[in-house]
Amino acid sequence: MPSIELYQGDITQLAVDAIVNAANNSLLGGGGVDGAIHRAAGPDLLVECRALKGCETGQAKITKGHRLKAKHVIHTVGPVWSGGSRNEDELLSLCYKNSLQLAAQNGLHSIAFPSISTGVYGFPVERAAPIAVREIRNFGESSLEKAIFVCFDSATMDVYRKILKL
Ligand code: ADP
Repeated sequence: MPSIELYQGDITQLAVDAIVNAANNSLLGGGGVDGAIHRAAGPDLLVECRALKGCETGQAKITKGHRLKAKHVIHTVGPVWSGGSRNEDELLSLCYKNSLQLAAQNGLHSIAFPSISTGVYGFPVERAAPIAVREIRNFGESSLEKAIFVCFDSATMDVYRKILKL
């Protein structure tokens, strides 16, 4: 299992092997963290994303980091919250699992996650954060040494801090 760190700020500023993007099914950019990542990475990220032909909810795809400090971007598509009975928990777990797996397959050592689905997609952060933490803790031995949870706002940070007892 990779060690877990908590960081409050902008994920686009992190010099890690991979930052995870909370993307949408088109992989062609959007608002929130997705928009911020595309802006910081520059237009070649969109060119590379176009060739990927989208991504299913819960799945993940990897690109280069382009102008980012991060070497790679792992694009995953979180579930849109619609009350909790549409497989949202399982799909969110899959986002973390598949992103970790992709990082490990590429021999990466460090990865940073935003709080997937808890922005525009409306997944309650109190329910999402324990899922995120559980999936990192359940991830076995691999090249991954460090996983960073990046919280943009202090409310999200407080939830993670409580769960991680930091
Ligand atoms: P989703 O559509 O998956 O809900 P959002 O981008 O709307 O994705 O929000 C996911 C989380 O990412 C929210 O907590 C939001 O505050 C946060 N966020 C937005 N911009 C950034 C950024 N530059 N770095 C890290 N987190 C960010």
